[in-house]
This record gives sequence, structure tokens and C-alpha cells, in this order.
Amino acid sequence: MPVICQTVIGWLEEWAPPLLAEDGDSIGLQVGSRGTKVEKVLVALEVTPEVVAEAVKEKVQLIVSHHPLIRDPLARLDYDSFPALLAVRLVENRIHFYAAHTNMDAATGGVNDLLAERLGLTGVRVMRPATKERLYKLAVFIPRGHEDEVRQAICNAGAGQVPACGSGNYDECTFLVEGTGTFRPLPGAHPFIGQIGGLERAEESRLETVVPETRLRAVIRAMLAAHPYEEVAYDLCPIKNQEPCKTGLGRVGKLPKPEPLHIFAEQVGDALDQQSVRLAGDPERLVSTVALCGGGGMSLLKRAVEADADVYVTGDVRHHDALNALAQGIAVIDAGHHATEKIIAPAMAAYLTEKAAAAGAQLDVILSRVNTDPFRNQRQEAGIHSTGQEAEGNPAPPPASGKLLIYIDGASRGNPGNAAAGVAILDEQQEPVLERKQYLGKTTNNVAEYQALILALQEAVNMGAVKVEIRTDSELLARQWNGEYRVQNPGLVPLMRQARQMADRLQSCKVVHVPRERNKRADALANQAIDEHLNNQEPGANS
Ligand SMILES: [Zn+2]
Repeated sequence: MPVICQTVIGWLEEWAPPLLAEDGDSIGLQVGSRGTKVEKVLVALEVTPEVVAEAVKEKVQLIVSHHPLIRDPLARLDYDSFPALLAVRLVENRIHFYAAHTNMDAATGGVNDLLAERLGLTGVRVMRPATKERLYKLAVFIPRGHEDEVRQAICNAGAGQVPACGSGNYDECTFLVEGTGTFRPLPGAHPFIGQIGGLERAEESRLETVVPETRLRAVIRAMLAAHPYEEVAYDLCPIKNQEPCKTGLGRVGKLPKPEPLHIFAEQVGDALDQQSVRLAGDPERLVSTVALCGGGGMSLLKRAVEADADVYVTGDVRHHDALNALAQGIAVIDAGHHATEKIIAPAMAAYLTEKAAAAGAQLDVILSRVNTDPFRNQRQEAGIHSTGQEAEGNPAPPPASGKLLIYIDGASRGNPGNAAAGVAILDEQQEPVLERKQYLGKTTNNVAEYQALILALQEAVNMGAVKVEIRTDSELLARQWNGEYRVQNPGLVPLMRQARQMADRLQSCKVVHVPRERNKRADALANQAIDEHLNNQEPGANS
């Protein structure tokens, strides 16, 4: 059986119905067309330039991911800005893109259920049930003998079904009652029965059913097409007697036995394959009830508190959120946005493989090999020693405009030799905001240039910058960044990847080549870092 885009989308939406998505979440087919033939699908947590490159290399026609690519309405297709840049690359390569985001968080067996399973929770329940889709009552009057054709037409269009987040075990739910209708056709009418000017009494049936809001237009269209009358009499009313949805965001469950918070934090790290997790709360406190939400879930803190959880496991926890949680008596484990969600990609790939096999479809499903986590644990990376780790002088204030100008330089004495990175960050008015220097150990000049770029991007992201212009005196770096030269040195490939991942967190990032004499400050910082390192060496010690 050949597969089109819509076939794959249908399978995914069977698992994660779109109505489970949070309001305003841009889920669904974001790039492409539903009718296109698909032979190979790439499943990823999100799309980055590396994931798009992988999709091109693997010759896939469709990427399915958890995070949407386009999150806010796109005001313009500026090819130099994110995310338009990636959307255009997808279009150029005829690759379609579909995202199942908060609907997949909420779905039964989705992100949050998988996370609860990984953490070994029992008695798992939903923390915040999804809002059920609005339902309408439809009552239509049909001449006797035509009930079945109208009923069939509206049920085929989606009437009479319990919405997907309910039990979903019944369809074609209707009710029929017989009666007598009256009407008088007036001049100009073309009545199905009766004469112009004469009062007609007709044997009719009243057919009632429910219609989910998303099916309303299709159902009314089907009803009007199947109905024999010229003027169809029907009532359409919103109904309010809806039960809460059985699934939704977040989960709450119990640990097999109470554990001290620090032990449980270790278990979370192990379960999610993380070298470290952050925790807020008394490490010795015993925890037994655990609330969780994959990704950035602090907006559900209130629900976690109401659920009497001892600890809330999520990602993207901000300073004040953690203080707020502690004040309300709940501990927090920040296991990272990426780490708490990456478990969904293999599950989606396995699901699609199974669906395709069951349908006898020719569909090759592959899982992305790109690690899209923009963060890494710097202190645990081998071989990099740093100085000036703490911001020098004042902590950097966020730039009001979100725009930064950053001079970067990498220096190496010996190439390879003692090397360091220097970064001078200025605001839009060219006023200094922050300076950073980092000793890199013994490496080459090019590696040092790339490390300087990564250091600059890290700072820019941390400062909440939006638009960044980076100036370098390395022509190679600028040309490689801008795609004019290919990165061929295997030592630079992962550094470029890391830099691109960081840059994706900014709205725009330009890298511009400037002459050496305009890059004196960054050069001085890098050299200072090398000097400081050499001065700290014991005389005669082997550095
Ligand atoms: Zn997420």
C-alpha cells in the first residue's frame, strides 16, 4: 500500500488527537502538503540545521517532530532569519514537516506517560485534564423514509461520535422521534412535497445527535447535501454537560518507597541518562508523591502543589520559580527540557513502524541521530580548563533591545599550542556589556576561533539576546558559517554543529569578517587568558 503524508498524520493523530493541544500551540503540518507520496520518514525531537541536513542525506519526504518549527505567526519569509531559513530549506528539498507537540505531551502513552514510566511511578494520574472539545446538539427534521440517508451522511462527516479524548468507544449515536410538521410553500418555492399556497402537513422525523466543534462545518454541509428539502429545518445548540477529559498535561504518581530527595534526583538522572540534574529543596527530605511534566512545566506548579506532591520533576526551571515552589513546600528537580522530552522520539518512530507494518504500507521510518540538546555540561567535558568562568565585574544586564554586537577571537601560541578564547560583548550603542576569556588547553587556532564563537553564543543566549552580530577576524570561520566554505576538518564539525544549535536559540545571528585591527579587544582578552594560565604554572612545570 502506498502512503501519502495524510496517512502518517492520521496515524499520529489517532494517538495524539489535535484537540488535546494547548490553545495557540502551532501543531500539525507546518510545511508541505497532505496528498504527497511518502516513502521514508525521519522522526526527531525537533528540527535544527543538522536535522534538516540529515533528512536531505537520508532522502526522506517527511520529518515528524515533537517541537514545532514555526511557533509564532511568521510575519515574513526572510531567508536569513530563523525559522524561515529552515522552512525554506525544507521546501527546497521537498521535505514535509509535521509536529505533534502539546497534544503528544498530553496523549495517553505520550511524553508525560513515558516520563512517569521511566521514573518508575505507580498509581499514575493526570495532573491537569485537557479541556474537552466543545460539543453541539444537532436536531434536524426529515421527511419520513429519508432518515437513513441523512443519518448516514452526517455520521460519516463526524456527527454522533464521542470526542477523541472521551472514552471514544461509540459512534453513530443518534436519536429519532416521529411527528408531524407543517409548512406553506410560497410563490417562488420549489417544494419537495405540497403545492404553492397550500398548508402542508408532513410526516417527519426529528433526528438528534452530537457534533464536535471541529466537525461542525463538514456535518452541516453533508446534512444539507443529503436532505431532500429545499429549506432544511434544523437546530444547532452548544451543550455544556461535558465530562472532563481522561488525559491531559502532567502526571502525578508514587515512588515504590519514599526516598531522600538527593537519592531520587540521582535516580532521575540515571533514568534520563543525564550527568547532572538540578534540585531545589532539602536533600534529606523524604519524597514519595512525584508530580512531573516533560519540557518546561513550571506553569503547572499550582497543580503539582494541589496534588500534594513532595517533588515536581520538570525542565526550564527559573530562579524565581524554584523559590516560589520552595515557599509552597514542594521540592523541584530540573532535569532539563531536552532530557525530559527526548524519550518521545524513539516512541513515535516505533509507533509509526508498527502502524505501517499493520497496514502493509511501504514506509521506511528512521530515528534522527542528531543530538539537538543545545546545552552541555561544560565542567564535565574533558580537556577544557577555564579561567574567568564567572562574569567579570557586574553580572550582565539583559540588553533592552535584545541586540548585541560581539567581537570574538581565538588565539593559539604554536598552533597547536596554549590557546584561549576572548569575547567582548557590546550593546547596540557599542557600550561594553560583558567580557569573557577562557583558556582552552593546547589546541589549534581554528579550534580556538570556534570555541570563541561558542562562548559568545552561550553568553548571548544566557543574556536573553534576540539578534546578535558576531565579528571575527577569522575569514575561515566567517566563510564557513555563511556556507561559502565547507567545514572539512573533522575536529571543527562538532564545534560548528554546537554553535549552530546555540544560534538557533536566537532570532538572528550574523557572523561578519572584520580586519584584525578592529578586533583588538577580543584578541587582548584571549592573550590575557593564555598569559594568566602561563603565570599560574609552577616554574618548570609541564603545562
Ligand atoms: Zn518541549
